[in-house]
Amino acid sequence: MVRFDVLSQGEELVSGSTTDTNATWICAELRERGFTAGWITVVGDELDGIRDALAQAARRAPLVICTGGLGPTSDDLTTEAAASAFQLGTVERPDALAQIEARYRARNRAMPPANRKQAVLPIGATLLENHWGTAPGYWIDVGEPTSRLYFLPGVPSEMKKMFSHHVVPDLLARYSLPPRRTIVFRCVGLAESEAAQRMAGMDGPGVIVGYRAHLPEIHVKLHLDPGVEAEPLIAETQRRLAEYVFTIDGGPLAAVVGEKLASRGETVATAESCTAGRIAADLTTVPGASAWFIGGAVVYSNAEKVRQCGVDAAVIEEHGAVSEPVARSLAEGIRTRTGATWGLGVTGIAGPGGGTAEKPVGTVHMAVAGPNGTTHRRLHLPFDRARNLQMTTALALDMLRRQL
Ligand code: AMP
Ligand code: MG
Repeated sequence: MVRFDVLSQGEELVSGSTTDTNATWICAELRERGFTAGWITVVGDELDGIRDALAQAARRAPLVICTGGLGPTSDDLTTEAAASAFQLGTVERPDALAQIEARYRARNRAMPPANRKQAVLPIGATLLENHWGTAPGYWIDVGEPTSRLYFLPGVPSEMKKMFSHHVVPDLLARYSLPPRRTIVFRCVGLAESEAAQRMAGMDGPGVIVGYRAHLPEIHVKLHLDPGVEAEPLIAETQRRLAEYVFTIDGGPLAAVVGEKLASRGETVATAESCTAGRIAADLTTVPGASAWFIGGAVVYSNAEKVRQCGVDAAVIEEHGAVSEPVARSLAEGIRTRTGATWGLGVTGIAGPGGGTAEKPVGTVHMAVAGPNGTTHRRLHLPFDRARNLQMTTALALDMLRRQL
């Protein structure tokens, strides 16, 4: 068992303006690879605080990942704190400087003098190139027994790239942890907490279950040590997550729908009110979509529902635009008018306004018209406008997926 600590550094993290997502991401990544998290420490822009936190982490763990505080401004203190904690001098590194200058040159700009500070590293540090931003990272070995400390930039996108590109290969070479097999069950329509409930008790010797929200999807991962027989565990996971799983180790929902349509030689067309083209856009992110996506109508107003999809104005009048008959009529209308195998119709109230007691915000009616008739589904979504639209898009695609 290899233990590690994480140190997140930045005033914005302790002042409450930014959530420390770096630590949770790093912990999940390392746990999946067989490492065991000890402490997560969060510290503001305070030299003594960072110095003490680094010293303690290095005493506790043979492996420490530190993020943040490598920027060019006076509140970026991590390098100074590390030098002080471990009695290392600092030196301006030509290799680091060259890298920072090259980044500016590539953008046709001169390096501002302040960035020179980012080339100053503790003596003995091994540089980790940053191809994604200006702040170079580095690692140092300190203490007895030795603890290795990695220093990475705080910007999450840069940190993740640096971690995957530099730290992971380093760790795999250094610690011969058994190679694990990872199986990803991609689900939609299931909350993370419910996925966890369904998977209760599946953890065991050589088996780690992980959960990641990739909204609107939830990914459930099985991490298996070598020698663990995968097939029964895959079957049991599939049984527990049931029809919520749209692929095992496969691509996004729209791609799964596209593959199914392509293999059946079928097509789809969309009629979207509240989602206003999001479903069509999602489908067309899939390469080769022209083979099975015919087109779609954005029918936001009642008049367009009538004009483009042939919805009966009297039905809208009687039931309202957000209703089962209108969703059915949208799906059937677009199917008939385009000649597609499948028609998808969606109408709903995304919020924050427009809700009534009878039809609160988050009410969505969706329908799939196909060779064997039309099916309908009503949703009550609890989210804000953006997520209501995102979930509606995913659940409409999922409704079609379940029929294919
Ligand atoms: P820094 O590398 O300290 O200059 O951080 C740059 C930016 O990255 C900060 O302004 C934050 O917005 C973000 N950031 C830094 N640390 C974290 C963290 N632990 N989690 C999420 N965002 C962070
Ligand atoms: Mg900072």
